[in-house]
Amino acid sequence: MNIHEYQAKELLAKFGVAVPAGHAALSVDEAVEAAKKLPGPIWVVKAQIHAGGRGKGKFKELPADAKGGVRLSKSVEEVRANAQDMLGNTLVTIQTGEAGKQVNRLYVTDGADIKSEYYLSMLVDRKTGRIAMIVSTEGGMDIEQVAHDTPEKIRTIVIDPAEGFQPHHGRAVAFALKLKGDLNKQAVKLAEQLYNAFIATDMSMLEVNPLVETTDGKLLVLDAKVSFDSNALYRRPEILALRDETEEDPAEI
Ligand code: GDP
Ligand code: MG
Repeated sequence: MNIHEYQAKELLAKFGVAVPAGHAALSVDEAVEAAKKLPGPIWVVKAQIHAGGRGKGKFKELPADAKGGVRLSKSVEEVRANAQDMLGNTLVTIQTGEAGKQVNRLYVTDGADIKSEYYLSMLVDRKTGRIAMIVSTEGGMDIEQVAHDTPEKIRTIVIDPAEGFQPHHGRAVAFALKLKGDLNKQAVKLAEQLYNAFIATDMSMLEVNPLVETTDGKLLVLDAKVSFDSNALYRRPEILALRDETEEDPAEI
């Protein structure tokens, strides 16, 4: 089962993970209210569908040159216009298939001033029961493409849950991302927080793409995708409650 980006970020924030402030919205008015609660001067309006590639996606009902499902907005009025453009329309991305997915929910967030984009994901190796943390300096793009073109830019750090997350794991993550000084420290801390969230909520997959470094020197989780397997759901009714039945892939559950 997948959850939406806004749910994933709210969950991660409970473990101390730094995410941009934001509010979910089901209508244009709610999106405007959400924007007014944030300081600006840049907002991001993000389609909440269970598929990635939203930024480069296209809306079926809009002209071909219209923007995609992740839109930077420079005023509350622009947030309103972007929300109007997206809600109720069908977003087609490389992950939705041709049919696309109807956008019924938005996430309005603080816009980050990005210096660099990185990649970090976690998954369980079913055979060994170990957890792989996969990191790359090449964030914001399709990791399969990176794996194909420049596999040397991807590092995997394996964690044995019996041993738990150790300082050397955090250092390996920060080193692989080539981060120095305070950013290095932030990466060590972030890796541990993500690990804790992963274990505590029984995630089967967590993908942060991109993880960003802002121009004022902060590491932020800018996009997050989280999946749970059905065993975890039986153990954790609070996770099952996050389920969006309108988005369910029948093959998945
Ligand atoms: P995805 O297309 O579904 O993976 O959605 P993302 O949340 O990853 O957004 C796509 C891209 O939009 C990111 O890789 C960023 O380059 C850009 N983006 C998203 N949020 C922001 C933001 O707050 N500030 C800036 N400058 N760019 C952003
Ligand atoms: Mg992304």
